[in-house]
Amino acid sequence: MKISLSDKVAVVTGAAQGIGRAITLAYAEHGACVAVLDVKLEQAQAVAEEAGRFGPKSLALEVDVSNSGQVSNAMNKVVDAFGRIDILVNNAGIYPESLVIDMSEEEWDRVIGISLKGTFNCSKAAAKLMVEQKSGRIINMSSRAGRQGSRGHAHYAAAKAGINGLTMSLARELSPHGITVNAIAPGIIETAMTQDVLQKGARNLRDYLVGRYGRPEDLVGIALLLASESSSYMTGAIVDVNGGSWMG
Ligand code: NAD
Repeated sequence: MKISLSDKVAVVTGAAQGIGRAITLAYAEHGACVAVLDVKLEQAQAVAEEAGRFGPKSLALEVDVSNSGQVSNAMNKVVDAFGRIDILVNNAGIYPESLVIDMSEEEWDRVIGISLKGTFNCSKAAAKLMVEQKSGRIINMSSRAGRQGSRGHAHYAAAKAGINGLTMSLARELSPHGITVNAIAPGIIETAMTQDVLQKGARNLRDYLVGRYGRPEDLVGIALLLASESSSYMTGAIVDVNGGSWMG
């Protein structure tokens, strides 16, 4: 199966590094114009530049996805630059550690605000355009934690479980408009986000049937498929990509 994203416009949040960067570069390599949204502007610009080497246009924007005003400005800028939005990947997230009994209200709000509300803010802004276009792909980055919880990361697990519910609800609302909405639920992927827990040896490699933790590149295939025409019969799915570390 050959996947082409030529003439498509993709917006990826949290794309300055890690999983978002890998997905952005893969989309550009397959022909999409890409908008790299992140709070880290310089790193986002570097990714946009790297993506630009594949040929299609690219753009970096400094955006805090938890802020609906910033999100709607950014989406308008993408449309000004590229004319439309075909693919949205809600990938931005944070992963601070604390037990619930020690967790501050501010930290709870920050994690939920970025992961869950950020996904709502971006989906709402992009879906309005996609409904007019009568087509679109929304891909939400969930986590195995949203399926089975996470000791020391209850806010994160709650946000990801919320993303699963939001994914299925958006699929119900938007699929009649030609827009599919799916989520990817990775297990541990080796990125800056998981450096600390892996260094502490806090995760059990023996749970991973394939014998290793994931790498950002392990999510590229499914992200390409869900962005492409080939997945037009898939919507409302939460796709586990976790090396066999959890089977629901
Ligand atoms: P990462 O920390 O390398 O990248 C996250 C990116 O999100 C960073 O570039 C960061 O600047 C950006 N970001 C943070 N807050 C933001 C905000 N308010 N607005 C815009 N951008 C913001 O992490 P990663 O491992 O690449 O994770 C990407 C996504 O995958 C996250 O949603 C994460 O929860 C999810 N995920 C990661 C793993 C893993 O093991 N790494 C597992 C399951 C799910």
